[in-house]
Amino acid sequence: PVDRSPEIQEARLKLPILAEEQVIMEAINENPIVVICGETGSGKTTQVPQFLYEAGYTSSNGIIGITEPRRVAAVSMSQRVAKEMNLSHRVVSYQIRYEGNVTDETQIKFMTDGVLLKEVQKDFLLLKYKVIIIDEAHERSMYTDILIGLLSRIVPLREKKGLPLKLIIMSATLRVEDFTENTRLFAVTPPVLQVDARQFPVTVHFNKKTPLDDYSGECFRKVCKIHRMLPSGGILVFLTGQAEVHSLCRRLRKAFPFQKNSTAGDDDDRKESVEEMRKFKKSRRRRKAATLPQINLDNYAVVPVDEGDEDRDAETDDDIAGSDVDLDLGDGDSEEEEKSDSSLPLYVLPLYSLLAPEKQAKVFRPPPPGTRLCVVATNVAETSLTIPGIKYVVDCGKVKKRFYDKITGVSSFRVTWISQASANQRAGRAGRTEPGHCYRLYSSAVFMDFEKFSAPEITKRPVEDLILQMKALNIEKVINFPFPTPPPAEALAAAEELLIALGALKEPPMTGRLKEQQAAKLSCPISPLGRVMATFPVAPRYAKMLALSRQHDCLPYTITIVSAMTVRELFEEFDRPAASEEETVKLKGKKGRLVQMQRIWAGQGSLQKLGDLMVMLGAVGACEYSGCTPKFCEENGLRYKAMLEIRRLRGQLTTAVNSVCTDAGLYVDPKMKPPTEAQATYLRQIVLAGLGDHLARRVQAEELLDDKWKNAYKTALLDDPVFIHPSSVLFKQLPDFVVYQEIVETTKLYMKGVSAVEPEWIP
Ligand code: ADP
Ligand code: MG
Repeated sequence: PVDRSPEIQEARLKLPILAEEQVIMEAINENPIVVICGETGSGKTTQVPQFLYEAGYTSSNGIIGITEPRRVAAVSMSQRVAKEMNLSHRVVSYQIRYEGNVTDETQIKFMTDGVLLKEVQKDFLLLKYKVIIIDEAHERSMYTDILIGLLSRIVPLREKKGLPLKLIIMSATLRVEDFTENTRLFAVTPPVLQVDARQFPVTVHFNKKTPLDDYSGECFRKVCKIHRMLPSGGILVFLTGQAEVHSLCRRLRKAFPFQKNSTAGDDDDRKESVEEMRKFKKSRRRRKAATLPQINLDNYAVVPVDEGDEDRDAETDDDIAGSDVDLDLGDGDSEEEEKSDSSLPLYVLPLYSLLAPEKQAKVFRPPPPGTRLCVVATNVAETSLTIPGIKYVVDCGKVKKRFYDKITGVSSFRVTWISQASANQRAGRAGRTEPGHCYRLYSSAVFMDFEKFSAPEITKRPVEDLILQMKALNIEKVINFPFPTPPPAEALAAAEELLIALGALKEPPMTGRLKEQQAAKLSCPISPLGRVMATFPVAPRYAKMLALSRQHDCLPYTITIVSAMTVRELFEEFDRPAASEEETVKLKGKKGRLVQMQRIWAGQGSLQKLGDLMVMLGAVGACEYSGCTPKFCEENGLRYKAMLEIRRLRGQLTTAVNSVCTDAGLYVDPKMKPPTEAQATYLRQIVLAGLGDHLARRVQAEELLDDKWKNAYKTALLDDPVFIHPSSVLFKQLPDFVVYQEIVETTKLYMKGVSAVEPEWIP
């Protein structure tokens, strides 16, 4: 029996899903696979695990696993469920890429979808689970899609073994036909249960004009109007990224100061970094005592490098009450709001996926008396988290996403319009507790041009990491896999091609006709090297580098380089527009300092030829020598969070390497010496082995047919000229051959993470 507090019990009883407990449990008892659809906030994530627990699903050796596409949800939902059930986090736990609190006593485990996918590799039948819940299936994250495909086969296998596994797929929308009407996936259509949410009408107000670019300013003006003119009720603002969220928070706090709050954010930040520094010093003292840090081997997942919520998009299909005009505030364009007004305190809180959990938790608590709550959020607030008391939603209509070229993998972050489904989902956040209002900062004509739904992630990005994981599961004919939505054939072919080139797959014999050869290429088995690579939680190109680095003691360096490349964005961005003259000068100074440091980190002699990768190595080394403090990072243009993440990833990769080469006996020495000249040369060869398809050749003067090729490079994949990014230490040197980490398209096609290659190494 569960011992819940009276307040919790009261709150639960208000959730629509509670009335459905019996129906849901009956369906689960009678069917191996059940789909549950219910509007965001109806109680799926917090209540279904409790129903199962109370029905005894965890009593006989087996636990309940719940996957979330976002780390934010895995952490905060485990905390919420533990609290509701009055159980310790030793029993209701979470596991995300780098961290978790799972114990032997864990009965309910929240995790990211990538974590569960990694577990399938170790134990295909997932025997430790009695129930798997795939949450937020409507988001169609790549790992969620694959898990559903795998589980469609695991469930019958478990049945045959007499150890049945229950699969529950939960979605915030009714758009589940890719799962239910796909007979290759589920031969027997699973029942779909619908939870009727109590959704109050939400009045949608469109702007008459759509702001060309300053949607952030438009958000500010709209919030000011709402706060001054409309009755009480929380405001939820949707923006696209962390930086925007912070800048709007600052502006709003300035406009509507609130005694405790006006500086609270900054104070908190300062306290936090002091605290982190203290913790770090303590952990360092401990490390000195024991040279071999104890790292949990299970503590990793295959997560794409840019896992985060800002590039995810939701898809839904709910109806929002039609537009009327009573509370229409008109397009905001007056300037008077900029004045500070402390008679109207606004309690402003940021919300995004990388925000520390304690800070995220603030949005669930009631605002201080006499203030109005205003949450400025990224896409996380769209379906993953439900914030109580929201009556007004301000929707900028945009989302930040990473776009990939399917074949070349060239990527760029772009802020684009959301889908209609997303817009409706956002609007729905306003009608959870009473009728609400949604202010869309774009016109209804623009809305009509939005795509209806956004496409599943798997159809939009390169899939080599996924294919390698699948081959490691001995799924050779990837093309026959029961994908809910298969990736495009050309993306599959490009992935196999790359994996063959890296030696991760066994090359098909070059006999027979071309057609047969091509078909064989799509069903190559994994090679022993591929198996080693698949154990590393990084992209296949980087895994190849790790696999090669046992020679000449290069491993610690490769681990650091790969960690730095995986974490990305080590350096602060100083090229942003400044608010004042003074700030412009300050930014210029900081940038100058960073450029100077980068030159130092790049080292001398043959170290320099390792280029930007040597800069990464040098920066991490210098930072660790200084104790990796927020102060050092701040002074030298490094992102502190990135540095901490690199340290964690170094630990994790070291553990992974030690588990494959039991005799490597590596341990993480934060204070790594710079590589020798010889090692730097080996490292360049190792990097070339991983990034062989990312080779670029400088266009020579005599080849110059067109000015656009001046200082340009030619790559195998692209017809257009590519350039070394101005931030690269090799920008001025222009070596004849380079390999690059990635090409990013801004004003031109730019190579980032560049390192020089000797022509005689090129196969
Ligand atoms: P769903 O998964 O269907 O979207 P949830 O189970 O996440 O719904 O949420 C159900 C309710 O629990 C929501 O109304 C939400 O406000 C509340 N809730 C969720 N997490 C917390 C929390 N940390 N603190 C307070 N209330 C919460
Ligand atoms: Mg949920």
